[in-house]
Amino acid sequence: MGTLAEVLNTRVREAELYERQHDAWVRCVACGHACRIPDGAAGVCKVRFNRGGTLYAPWGYVAGAQCDPIEKKPFFHAWPGSLAFSFGMLGCDLHCAYCQNWVTSQALRDPQAVSPPADATPERIVAEAVRLGARAVVSTYNEPLITSEWAVAVFRAARAAGLATGFVSNGNGTPEALQYLSPWIDLYKVDLKGFDDKRYRTLGGRLQPILDTIRGLHAGGTWVEIVTLLVPGFNDTDEELRALVAFIAGVSPDIPWHVTAFHPDYKMSDTPATTPTMLARAARLGREGGLRHVYAGNLPGRVGRLEDTCCPRCSAVLIERRGYTIQRYGLAPDGACPTCHEPIPGRWDGGARRSAPSPGRARIDRWSLLDMS
Ligand code: SF4
Repeated sequence: MGTLAEVLNTRVREAELYERQHDAWVRCVACGHACRIPDGAAGVCKVRFNRGGTLYAPWGYVAGAQCDPIEKKPFFHAWPGSLAFSFGMLGCDLHCAYCQNWVTSQALRDPQAVSPPADATPERIVAEAVRLGARAVVSTYNEPLITSEWAVAVFRAARAAGLATGFVSNGNGTPEALQYLSPWIDLYKVDLKGFDDKRYRTLGGRLQPILDTIRGLHAGGTWVEIVTLLVPGFNDTDEELRALVAFIAGVSPDIPWHVTAFHPDYKMSDTPATTPTMLARAARLGREGGLRHVYAGNLPGRVGRLEDTCCPRCSAVLIERRGYTIQRYGLAPDGACPTCHEPIPGRWDGGARRSAPSPGRARIDRWSLLDMS
């Protein structure tokens, strides 16, 4: 068996998100880097490469798959209490020092990050999702934009089986990628990692493409939820959070904003963990900035009402949560507040009134997927 890169280079197919250029160069448009790549080289993500003037993209494998509550993605305004079947490939277009999925995202950059692939087909992934009772199939774990073609193949099969689809993404998109994806995506979680372009560049990206992606997704009718991992000393000043909130509220005050707790990880093991008080402060800034649905995540049971969905008009508690578990569901069937009839934005049809059974036995890993092939 060869190196991981050599193994992955056999699991590819010609990309769709690229254009050919002179002298066998190509320009990839799957993510905001828009790499111009000469023959024989790979893009910044290292998983898309030019061979003979043709761009190749990952295909036909998964590096991880698991069935979880949809709240874990997190989507709080989409079919609460249902299950989401997550699948992921390898690689990322950013290199965040605090990445909490670094085993898969940095597999081609960091020799410590070992996560071998297993062969899979879209039909077998979806069949497994259906067997486990999932309501949605979600591309996650690595950055899904860089493996968009494979995600769309899986999503086509998922839609045919009556399932919803979603991305858990850093949002470093392009207009071409959004146009390509939007017919096949129902839900899109964007990590908005801060509001400082200089800091974004230390993670390997730029702020503007992420902002453009959020605007484009919302304008196109995809359901968007935004997550900001609150990293002490990195992105948590009042000034930066106010600017970030003002941007989201300017796109739509109905977009849910999840401010989540950092725990020391990967190359940021010396940074202190986020406290409940820090989350509460950020959430207060979110509300003061006009956001109607603000949540605090990663510290279940320690953030008061900030895990619950409340009516922004009459303050009635509509969905009570503890972590990923629905403890009480009080939305009307049409997704309105039953007290004052305020419509609550989201995707509610068929939503559960309590959490789906624990997916404990539903957990599958790369080896069981290998067995399926
Ligand atoms: S997905 Fe992004 S990083 Fe990878 S080759 Fe394409 S533009 Fe470059």
